[in-house]
Amino acid sequence: MTVKVSHTAEIQDLFKEASGLNSEQGSPRIKQIMLRIINDAAKIIEDLDISDDEFWKSVDYLNRLGGRNEVGLLVAGLGLEHFLDLLQDAKDAQAGLTGGTPRTIEGPLYVAGAPLAEGEVRMDDGSEPDATVMFLEGVVRDTQGAPVAGAVVDLWHANTQGNYSYFDQSQSAYNLRRRIVTDAEGRYRARSIVPSGYGCAPDGPTQECLDLLGRHGQRPAHIHFFISAPGHRHLTTQINLAGEQYLWDDFAYATRDGLVGDIQFVEDAAAAHDRGVQGSRFAELQFDFQLQKAPAAQAEQRSKRPRALQGA
Ligand code: FE
Repeated sequence: MTVKVSHTAEIQDLFKEASGLNSEQGSPRIKQIMLRIINDAAKIIEDLDISDDEFWKSVDYLNRLGGRNEVGLLVAGLGLEHFLDLLQDAKDAQAGLTGGTPRTIEGPLYVAGAPLAEGEVRMDDGSEPDATVMFLEGVVRDTQGAPVAGAVVDLWHANTQGNYSYFDQSQSAYNLRRRIVTDAEGRYRARSIVPSGYGCAPDGPTQECLDLLGRHGQRPAHIHFFISAPGHRHLTTQINLAGEQYLWDDFAYATRDGLVGDIQFVEDAAAAHDRGVQGSRFAELQFDFQLQKAPAAQAEQRSKRPRALQGA
């Protein structure tokens, strides 16, 4: 028989005290959230008959998860980051804010302050000579189809090993990270390398959890974007590459209709030479974005999620 006591006055008083509700100090908002968290945790322990061993194992797990900086990875893997997008989509629909390129998850691997370029840029530092060169370009438009000049296209992606600069200290600073200001026609252009998909660290706590859920921790190759422009709504999104094994089996649930990049691989020695590529093989990826009008100035900004900063 399951014993339940969390609803009793004695325990509710304990939880209110623990949430600071008997104190004049602190944050009312955090107190409200904490009381809910403690109550829900107590209900889970009672309803699922969580043993002491299970409880302390989960405490140890959270310590290890934070110690490896993988909380941001786990919330993506558990679908919670995608849920935030779906919730925002529903709020937008209710408010009549529709159209434009779909949003999708940011993920935990952005680094602020990447070099800024006008119109066109090379993103890779040349340290992977065997990588396939990728020419990426497109136009940023508004929902009426008019090009948006001066938009900032802030993009980042992994190398051929599936690793991101900054988090992978073997790469140079800001390798495969740039901000491109669109030209008068709303166009951005980048020369980079075709990224690889990646998986959670096999020895990390996120993969440990996924193993217990009977799930893999793999993502298709993809390119992340923040796109912003005055008067337009900030867009956080990704292009996931067509033809990838995990395109529709993404452990982080980031692939969405409208966000699949139709990358084309070209074998043409003359064309490669003309474009300054060694060998005969390269890739082309064209992807246009559409930004919604910003309903308020605040909508032009990305979330205040704490993010890494090079050198910090
Ligand atoms: Fe990523």
